[in-house]
Amino acid sequence: MRLILLGPPGAGKGTQSARLEQKYGIPQLSTGDMLRAAVKAGTPVGLKAKAVMESGGLVSDEIVIGIIADRIDEADCAKGFILDGFPRTVAQAEALTALLKQKGRGLDAVVELLVDDGILLARIEGRARDTVAAGGTVRADDNPEAFKKRLAQYHEQTAPVSGYYKSIGELRTVDGMAPIDEVTKQLDAVLAK
Ligand code: AMP
Repeated sequence: MRLILLGPPGAGKGTQSARLEQKYGIPQLSTGDMLRAAVKAGTPVGLKAKAVMESGGLVSDEIVIGIIADRIDEADCAKGFILDGFPRTVAQAEALTALLKQKGRGLDAVVELLVDDGILLARIEGRARDTVAAGGTVRADDNPEAFKKRLAQYHEQTAPVSGYYKSIGELRTVDGMAPIDEVTKQLDAVLAK
């Protein structure tokens, strides 16, 4: 199954992707996780991405498309994958369509988690508190200032990605404000269609 999860930052894409990964035995491909790993390792991509990520901006289309193009060719993606955090611009969505077409493949589903802006900031603050309580390190961009920029970025650049998939008849939606288990149930239901 080749699947995209769309939704604003804090919508629960990571949580739901982890569950889908278990259920379908396919990897979750989070460009955010891959970029954070590149920053940590100090690779050339990481060095380019660090400042823009910390401020809540978007890394260039060229970089993330390159990362995904390489990643989906790896052996563990043969049965499919769950994209989390990609595509984030219409240009990325178009590049993905072209990339899959070249390989004679397509997407099985694009699902958007719908969540009102009002509860996202509270969720991000909660995520930072939980991370600190568990002895972890809070993401550099999980602070109110960077988060507001990420949300504005989402409305400007990423919301049109839903429009792109809607226009080609591939978009399905679930209520991302429901409790986590309920969202999982709704996802299972729309994926079974
Ligand atoms: P995330 O973990 O998905 O919230 O991503 C964290 C940060 O990584 C974002 O705020 C962006 O700076 C960068 N990033 C992740 N995925 C993408 C993407 N598809 N396009 C551009 N920037 C991205």
